[in-house]
Amino acid sequence: MLKVVLFLVLLFCVLLVLRALRLFLAGLFGPSRGRPARAWPVEGDMVRDPVCGVWIDRRLALPAGPDQSGPAVCSEACRNALVRKGREIAQ
Ligand SMILES: [Zn+2]
Repeated sequence: MLKVVLFLVLLFCVLLVLRALRLFLAGLFGPSRGRPARAWPVEGDMVRDPVCGVWIDRRLALPAGPDQSGPAVCSEACRNALVRKGREIAQ
């Protein structure tokens, strides 16, 4: 039983050292290596659909106005609703 406890304590210590080493190396080489620092889009990249009110990523939004300008909407249904109602939305 004592050997099992010692083994678990030793395993815990080894994992702790490996984790500290990994964090140290990540700090040494910066956040550019490995996973990106931020996986989610920043708040400034989100736009609100004026029709249904949902927040969407600007890159995924559909421009509702002519010449691909105007407010951004989430879907063709919202774009059609916006055109139908003829709303003016300032952005
Ligand atoms: Zn919508």
